[in-house]
Amino acid sequence: MTLADERIDRLHELARDATVECDQDRARYYVRLARRIAERQRRQFPRSFERSTCDACDAYLRPGKNARTRLQDGHVVVTCDCGSQSRYPY
Ligand SMILES: [Zn+2]
Repeated sequence: MTLADERIDRLHELARDATVECDQDRARYYVRLARRIAERQRRQFPRSFERSTCDACDAYLRPGKNARTRLQDGHVVVTCDCGSQSRYPY
C-alpha cells in the first residue's frame, strides 16, 4: 500500500464522516481531493469509494440521506440528489 492509497483511504473516511454530519460541501471537497490524488498518481480509484460518489457532482452518496438506491434488471441503480444516476451489476 502506497502513501497515495493511504491518503485516498483516509479521504474516503473523511468524506463519509462529513456526509454523516450532513456537511455535503466538505464531503465533496474530500471526494475531489481524493480523485485528484488518484489521477496524479495514476492509482486505481478504489471501487468501494467510486461507487459511493456521484460522477456528476462529486457528492459522497449515502442511501436514504442524499441518494436513492433501487434494484433493476440485475443492476443497482443509485440516484443522487442532483439527478445523476449510476448503475452497476450486483
Ligand atoms: Zn450528484
